[in-house]
Amino acid sequence: MPASETRILLEHIGEPQSCTLEGYRRRGGYEALRKALFEMTPDDVIEEVKTSGVRGRGGAGFPAGVKWGFIPKASPKARYLVCNADESEPGTAKDRAIMEFDPHQLIEGCIICSYAIGAHYAFIYIRGEYHHIAEHLQFAINQAYEAGLAGKGILGSEYDCEVILYRGGGAYICGEESGLLTSLEGRKGYPRNKPPFPAIEGLYKSPTVVNNVETLACVPLVISKGGEWYASMGTEKSKGTKLLSISGHVNKPGVYEIELGKMTLREIIDDLAGGVPGGRKIKGVIPGGSSMPILPPDKLDIPFDYESVQAAGSLLGSGGIIVLDETVDIVEMALLLTKFYAHESCGQCTPCREGTRWMLNTMTAIYEKQGHPDDLDLIRGLFKTEFSSICLLWSSLIMPIRAFLQHYPEEFEAYIKQSKLDLEAIKNKEQLSPSTALAVPGEALPGRPVKLRLAE
Ligand code: SF4
Repeated sequence: MPASETRILLEHIGEPQSCTLEGYRRRGGYEALRKALFEMTPDDVIEEVKTSGVRGRGGAGFPAGVKWGFIPKASPKARYLVCNADESEPGTAKDRAIMEFDPHQLIEGCIICSYAIGAHYAFIYIRGEYHHIAEHLQFAINQAYEAGLAGKGILGSEYDCEVILYRGGGAYICGEESGLLTSLEGRKGYPRNKPPFPAIEGLYKSPTVVNNVETLACVPLVISKGGEWYASMGTEKSKGTKLLSISGHVNKPGVYEIELGKMTLREIIDDLAGGVPGGRKIKGVIPGGSSMPILPPDKLDIPFDYESVQAAGSLLGSGGIIVLDETVDIVEMALLLTKFYAHESCGQCTPCREGTRWMLNTMTAIYEKQGHPDDLDLIRGLFKTEFSSICLLWSSLIMPIRAFLQHYPEEFEAYIKQSKLDLEAIKNKEQLSPSTALAVPGEALPGRPVKLRLAE
């Protein structure tokens, strides 16, 4: 029997009125908020979320309740909740399903979390390109205000919480939590060094919880049905369900929800996403958004949960599954990813700013049949600087490139063998290898041999 979805977050999507306040309340919406405000202390709420074991669904997978518990209770500063709705990782498009088709789940989750951590402002930072989704969400927020579910004296209680939708400018790096906070403060979205972590010094240097849309959308269910109920799904360490966005070479790309650990990656591709078009073979699968290492076909029969995917050599990340069939040129794929991350580097730190450019030059040279036999070693040398930058963007390029080189080295070598470079001229220093051309000021023409000016 084909494996199937387990829908708790997506359960009502597609039903008439699923996105309206009326439809949401008809199925018990905002009763979890009422329960939290009138029957639970903030600490009770945090304990319930800890019991559920729900982990951050944006990529890091850190337990949400533990993160909430880091907010210092004695701090005289204001506390904030920031919902990360930036969702800009290539291959990831699952949060938009909640925001567009069931937005009150998220709004209710934001207010419950704010109550638990003692915040009176909940910001939802949505990526700039999600124009119509932002309109849907703002409409739902307005409805919540009009019904007394947000703002002053929520549901007749003494608790106030303003819910503010903030639209980003479209930079990938603003999906990184500290870059997002800087952007929300009205400055360029430069990531910050950690520590201090946002729980101690976040928005406006105040204690802040940053959680992803999917994470916060789980909270009303956890409060209404109980942490034990949520924890009864999934595996011992990977509890609950996970939204997946499946793209690439599959017959039925889209957003799905599975119980963690109950389906293999191959079943997800074949039974949910309808398999690969034309019966072609799979060359590899990126399991958690573009920055995660690719898994070759012999690693697809693993249960889809955090621990199993890690043991197989990758990470579950955001759950953005990208399927690549046998027609994919891995060198071209590596070049595309390199272009993206080189473009999105904010330029604050040298290893990332320079490393992404060197990687781009070298990948371009290889792809344009101008590669040098030493180029793969040059790329591998760059990997040594992986953890020497402020945020994980540089690592987000290194991880997939390293996996491409590990699993498909012959594809890179084949390109280099076809290179039209005049190796003799390079040896005699009449030319530079295109991949090292960046070293010559004013002569940096990626992928093209250049005259060696330094010898003149
Ligand atoms: Fe900016 Fe890259 Fe440094 Fe991150 S790693 S702060 S993106 S330069």
